[in-house]
Amino acid sequence: MADLYFRRHRRLRQSAGIRSMVKETYLHKEDLIYPIFVMDGENIKNPVNSMPGVFQFSLDRLGEEVDEVVTLGIPSVILFGLPATKDAEGTQAYHDHGIVQKAIRFIKDRHPNLVVIADTCLCEFTDHGHCGVVDEHERILNDPSLDLLAKTAVSQAQAGADIIAPSNMMDGFVTAIRQGLDRAGFQDVPIMSYAVKYASAYYGPFREAADGAPKFGDRKTYQMDYSNRMEAIREATSDMEEGADFLIVKPALAYLDIIRDVRNNFDAPIVAYNVSGEYAMVKAAAINGWINEKETVLETLTGMKRAGADIILTYHAKDVARWLEEK
Ligand SMILES: [Zn+2]
Repeated sequence: MADLYFRRHRRLRQSAGIRSMVKETYLHKEDLIYPIFVMDGENIKNPVNSMPGVFQFSLDRLGEEVDEVVTLGIPSVILFGLPATKDAEGTQAYHDHGIVQKAIRFIKDRHPNLVVIADTCLCEFTDHGHCGVVDEHERILNDPSLDLLAKTAVSQAQAGADIIAPSNMMDGFVTAIRQGLDRAGFQDVPIMSYAVKYASAYYGPFREAADGAPKFGDRKTYQMDYSNRMEAIREATSDMEEGADFLIVKPALAYLDIIRDVRNNFDAPIVAYNVSGEYAMVKAAAINGWINEKETVLETLTGMKRAGADIILTYHAKDVARWLEEK
């Protein structure tokens, strides 16, 4: 026996029934968060050129988008805002009638059970396009940015946001927001921290969608260097100590090892952000007929879950929810 023995792995692949029995990882529509871009104005549904299928909506057109999300069974959305005016302090980020605050009220009124996550940052609202306060030497100031970020989070919670998702990568932002929320009576609003966010070329299409490109310099003094792995553990550790309820890893596709590291080291729910550039590459190839979009997306997103993600933030969410129904 020993001479001829070899292991027959194919036994467990021989039929759809057996393959289904031994399948280790599942993708569910309940895993998905769908990003939505909202802007001031009327009757706007602007296509984002670099992200086919993604649009910017004015509030009077937002209903059709969120109705579709709810009908498809996607449990949550994350909001990004494009304000009518920008300034150095990003005041529209924390204005009671800012575009994101208005959109939160609109969605919670229409669909109280849809989980509304507010992206909490300043870059879409500052005229310089950076995620924090900038001094006269074009340095991004950490601590003054925290005050504005906490203020933004509180105003989003007051508007009815279910979850606050700070993304500006300033040190101490979870503590600042947790204290701000608690003092304002929002002890029960969770923080989904962009704990591990790399400075990435994959964000290119998003900058068109959210009109948030920096006017000078880059974000490398606050976002992470893609060469680094241990640094991800340091970032996630401090956010957990500060009270983060979820940990986001962003981007996802080129960072599956980081998702796994974070999964293995922390017991919080892990969110993979399948970013705009990852979406755009698949769309471009699919439009050219070079790949099968459905199979490619399902494989990629299942890979993110296999890497350790519990939740996936993705522009493919509506398509994926439809495809999973077909299966
Ligand atoms: Zn930002």
